Amino acid sequence: MANTSVQDLLRKLPGVDALLQLEPLREALTQHPRKLLLESIRHVLEEQRQRILDPKGSGASVNLEPSHLVQLILQRLVQVSDYALRPVINATGIVIHTNLGRSLLPQEAIERLALLCRSYNNLEYDLEKGKRGSRYVHAEAILCELTGAEAALVVNNNAGAVFLVLNTLAQGKEVIVSRGQLVEIGGSFRIPDVMRSSGAILREVGCTNRTHARDYEGAINGETALLMKVHTSNYRIVGFSSEVSLEELTALGRTHGLLVIEDLGSGSFINFAPFGLQGEPTVQETVRGGADVVTFSGDKLLGGPQAGIILGRKSLIEKCKKNPLTRALRVDKMTLAVLEGTLRLYRDERLAMEQIPTLRMIATPLSVLEERAAKLAAMISGADAHSIFEVTVEPNASQVGGGSLPAQNLPTFVVAVRSERLSTQKVELFMRNYTPPLIGRIESDRFLMDARTLQDDEFTVIQQAFKSLLATIVTD
Ligand SMILES: *Cc1c(COP(=O)(O)O)cnc(C)c1O
Repeated sequence: MANTSVQDLLRKLPGVDALLQLEPLREALTQHPRKLLLESIRHVLEEQRQRILDPKGSGASVNLEPSHLVQLILQRLVQVSDYALRPVINATGIVIHTNLGRSLLPQEAIERLALLCRSYNNLEYDLEKGKRGSRYVHAEAILCELTGAEAALVVNNNAGAVFLVLNTLAQGKEVIVSRGQLVEIGGSFRIPDVMRSSGAILREVGCTNRTHARDYEGAINGETALLMKVHTSNYRIVGFSSEVSLEELTALGRTHGLLVIEDLGSGSFINFAPFGLQGEPTVQETVRGGADVVTFSGDKLLGGPQAGIILGRKSLIEKCKKNPLTRALRVDKMTLAVLEGTLRLYRDERLAMEQIPTLRMIATPLSVLEERAAKLAAMISGADAHSIFEVTVEPNASQVGGGSLPAQNLPTFVVAVRSERLSTQKVELFMRNYTPPLIGRIESDRFLMDARTLQDDEFTVIQQAFKSLLATIVTD
C-alpha cells in the first residue's frame, strides 16, 4: 500500500470530539460514566490506527464508517463497564474447578452470609462475658464435634494452614517427609518451598515410589521436630510402590517422642467409596489414626468457602493461635459465616449430600445425568430449525478436580455439538464470550457439555446461547 493512502486513511479517522457528537454515543452517556466512554473511544481509535499502520495488513480494508466505529465503541463500553468477577456456567464436568471458583456454596450458607453481612455480629465479642472475645471460637466447636478433634483453628486457606503449622512447630528444626509426597499443587504451592519459607528444614526420605518406616527412623536425630505425611492429592504412584500408613507413622512418633502431622489437602468428612471413588481418607479417620495435627481446605471436598482448617491437640492449636502469623492469615466474618453454614449440614449426612452442591454433583446417579443431558440436547435441537448442529448425548467421564481423587473418573453423560457450518473452535469461542460465559471442552472436534456440573436454571440460558449463535450463521 502506498504511503499516501496510509496518510489518507489516518486523516479520515474521526476525532474524539466528533464521535462524541454522534447520537448513539450521546445517549450512552446517560447510562455510563464519561470517563469510560472516552476510554472506549480512544481504545477503538487506537485499534483502527494500528490496523491502518500494520505493514502486513491491508489498510484499505479498514472500515472507518462512523456507524461501524460507534458499534465497536459501544461493544468496548459494555465490556469495560461490566464486573470483572462474573458468574460463568461450568460445563467442564470438573466439580471442584479451581479456575472457576472451586465449590458452589449451599443455599443455607449463602443466606447466613447475607444475614451476617447486613447486621453487626459477635465476631470478636463474647456475649456471655460482655467483653472482647475471639473470632476463632465460632467454627471450633462444630469442627471438633464433627471430627473428634480436641481443638481447631481456621485460617485463610490450606497453604496458609500448612505454613502456619510448620512455622509454629518446626521453625529451625527438621521435618521428615517421604520423597513420594513432595507434591506441587497448581498455583505454585510446593511442599519443599512452603517448608523453606516457613523456616522448617526438609529432610526427604525413601524413594519416589517406595518409602518404609525404617527410612523415617533412620533420619530421626536431635534436630527432628516432626514426621509429616502429605496426601498426594493430585497424582497417584502406582505399580511397585508403598508408603507408610498413618498408624505406623504415629507409632514411630510415639516411640521417639515426635509429633506427626498430616496435610490431607482435600479433607473429606464423607466416605466416597459408595460413589465409586476410592482412596480419599476421611478427616475423622485421620484424627482417629492419631495424627497430632491435620490440615485441609475448606473449598475442596468439604464444599464450603476458601479456608484452611487445622485440627489437632489442644496444646498445639494453642501454640498456632499465639503465633503472630495467625493474624496475617486470619479469616473474615464472611468466611466464618459460610463455613459454619456449611458445617452444620454435616450433622446429618443425608442432608449434607443433598444440600452441599459439591457433594450432590459427585453423587448424582448416572441415570439422572443421562436424563439431564437428553433434556439439554433436546432444548438445543429444538432451537435449531435448520439443523445446523449435530447434537448427541454420549457417555463420557467427569473429574472431581481440586486435586482430589486423581486418576479416578466418574462416569457421566455429555451433550456433544458439532457443525458442518462452523468450526468447533468458533463454537467454543462464542460460548466462552457469551454472557454468562459457558465453559465447555473440545474433544474429537466436538464441543462437549457435561451434565454433572450444570445447574438446572442454566439450561434455558444455554439454549438461548445456541439461539444467539444460530442467529449469527442463519441469514435467510
Ligand atoms: C490443595 C492442597 C493444598 C493447598 O490448599 P489451598 O486451600 O488451595 O491453599 C495443600 N496441600 C494439598 C495436599 C492440597 O491438595
